[in-house]
Amino acid sequence: MRALRLMSWKTEPVLTEADVPAPGPGEVLLKIGGAGACHSDLHLMHDFTGDTLGWGPPFTLGHENAGWVHAVGDGVTGLDIGTPVAVYGAWGCGDCSRCRLGVEPYCENPGATPAPGGGGGLGMDGGMAEFMLVRHTRHLIPLPGGLDPVAAAPLTDAGLTPYHAIRRSWPKLAPGSTAVVIGVGGLGHVGVQILKATTAARVIAVDTRKEALDIAEKYGADLMVPSGDGAADQIRTATGGHGADVVLDFVGANPTLALAAAVVRSVGDLTVVGIGGGTLALSFFSVPYEASIQTTYWGSRSELAEVLDLGARGLVKPETQTFGLDEAIGVYRTMHEGALRGRAVIVP
Ligand code: NAD
Ligand code: ZN
Ligand code: ZN
Repeated sequence: MRALRLMSWKTEPVLTEADVPAPGPGEVLLKIGGAGACHSDLHLMHDFTGDTLGWGPPFTLGHENAGWVHAVGDGVTGLDIGTPVAVYGAWGCGDCSRCRLGVEPYCENPGATPAPGGGGGLGMDGGMAEFMLVRHTRHLIPLPGGLDPVAAAPLTDAGLTPYHAIRRSWPKLAPGSTAVVIGVGGLGHVGVQILKATTAARVIAVDTRKEALDIAEKYGADLMVPSGDGAADQIRTATGGHGADVVLDFVGANPTLALAAAVVRSVGDLTVVGIGGGTLALSFFSVPYEASIQTTYWGSRSELAEVLDLGARGLVKPETQTFGLDEAIGVYRTMHEGALRGRAVIVP
């Protein structure tokens, strides 16, 4: 089969031939229907090393996957061949207290998996190939309500990651509240939809690109603010001087973290999702009183089921463009130039 593989750090992936894996006991072989291209893959190509992550290449890219059950290993029951499924992408040990809560990205037993904090497409072979081996049936959720794998794939990361970040802030998103979404690309434009579908907050979208702000407006954002000088003042003015109850930074670079700190409200949440390499100084006077600052990484398995439900009911619908495997390297170059619209999904 063909597979898009990252062979070493600080390189582009290569499209190469790979063996179709055979599912061992308890494992499932998927025929891939769609594999989303995430900006984190660009960090894998340009920014990260094994020192940061604790694992590394070679592996097949694609950590945002959905497809059909193609073959099952010994002992797998209850999954018929041809069943459409989404892949829960973070593969922890399955047994520690975090894994039992369903938040496998926070697995506390790193020795139990070849790629702690990762999974298929992040240290282990992922879905940018015709077939993908899934190590355990608990990583699979059958697609509800006729949801198509191409539509479902982005929900497993571009949907699940903002959903988790927003869900934990729900108590602060009452009617009358404001949420700011910084960076309305692949994750952020889905974040706008999730805010609209699950809260009554007013949504302010911030991006450097007009096209991204247009997509945010299409999905119901109430105010579009160009990133840069003047953005903080505009958001402060729009919130009666108070600032925003929840600020979600899907970029994580120095200027966006500074903006986030400048517009978060007292007792608000400032959540850093983007891995843009920035830092935020924390001191008694640098952020409003009782503002909570956190990073979030991906989400839980039960939250993925909730996101798929939103997708199946048409309440959350990532803006997707599809490409073949042979176009994937070009897709990442376009993403690097900041010229992608919504989420790109590779259809092998
Ligand atoms: P993307 O390239 O699709 O979107 C990024 C958006 O940010 C683009 O619209 C871009 O124009 C905008 N942007 C860039 N610089 C900006 C600035 N200074 N101000 C405002 N907007 C700006 O990327 P994506 O796939 O949505 O990923 C976003 C980030 O989230 C990446 O760093 C990625 O690695 C990270 N990520 C984190 C998690 C997690 O669990 N924490 C999961 C997936 C992705
Ligand atoms: Zn990702
Ligand atoms: Zn674990």
